[in-house]
Amino acid sequence: MMKEASAPAQGASKYNAPDNFTTAGDPIRTFAAAIAQDTGATVDPIGDGQLHRFDCPEGKRGNRACWYVLHLDRWPAGAYGNWRTGITDTWRADHNREHDREQGARIAAAIDAARRQREREQAQAQDNAARRAQRLWSDAKPATAGHPYLARKRIPALCLRQHGDCLLIPLRTVADELVNVQRIHPDGTKRFLKGGRIVGAFALFGCELPEEGELYIAEGWATAATIATTLRLPVVAAMNAGNLAPVAQAIRAARPGLALTLAADDDHGTPGNPGMTKAAEAARLVQGAMTWPTTCRQEGCGCTDFNDVANCGRAPR
Ligand SMILES: [Zn+2]
Repeated sequence: MMKEASAPAQGASKYNAPDNFTTAGDPIRTFAAAIAQDTGATVDPIGDGQLHRFDCPEGKRGNRACWYVLHLDRWPAGAYGNWRTGITDTWRADHNREHDREQGARIAAAIDAARRQREREQAQAQDNAARRAQRLWSDAKPATAGHPYLARKRIPALCLRQHGDCLLIPLRTVADELVNVQRIHPDGTKRFLKGGRIVGAFALFGCELPEEGELYIAEGWATAATIATTLRLPVVAAMNAGNLAPVAQAIRAARPGLALTLAADDDHGTPGNPGMTKAAEAARLVQGAMTWPTTCRQEGCGCTDFNDVANCGRAPR
């Protein structure tokens, strides 16, 4: 049995009670409390069985990254989640009562609808970013070697373009579709396009992805450029450690004839060494080889990647 709705607790008077407060006030408040506990957000839930969105408190205003669905009938039940953190949880007013099949199906459908909504929005944002990337790229000029970032990293301007003093690093899929650009400002600040795709996309130092022979997969662009110019081999930059495996797998599927080598950053100063760990994981997934730089480990030098090591001991950067 559902408990009788109790009187609002002290301090709860600010709560904006809906019309059905007398019959469903308790479940609404406990549902709101569950949401607050898991997402940190304060919401006044509406029990209409529809998908409602609200801001994730950690994000910018208007991010609408959190959602809930609440059904208010004999057995109030709902679900909520946070797309930023990946939290999804279900909630029932009466925990002693077994989930009936109809209610279970309804909640599962609500979670599914929320997931599809997120996928739609993500696809839309990726489309917009890809169009913006293509516009920026076609409006840009070939990068010049004098760009402060390139000069500091001692790498060539090959394969890059420049929009004003902003360096553009193109991210493409294995199908050679330009989906995003990383913009690097003269001070080294790096930004991807908002909502743009990164997972499985990469920047290639070379003319095109070869069908056979060797290919190296590194994290950052400067590292990729250093390896490519040293070894005279094509190298792709996955842009971050977490993207090494998705990139390696996408390339492995599209180019089964390529011998892949993961060129790790040695994040020896970071707990868990994400550079080495993620590269090893990617190498294992694609039966690839792995290599990493011999860092100096000298006091005052934070060199971790092939580009750092190539420049280690030179003038301060
Ligand atoms: Zn060093």
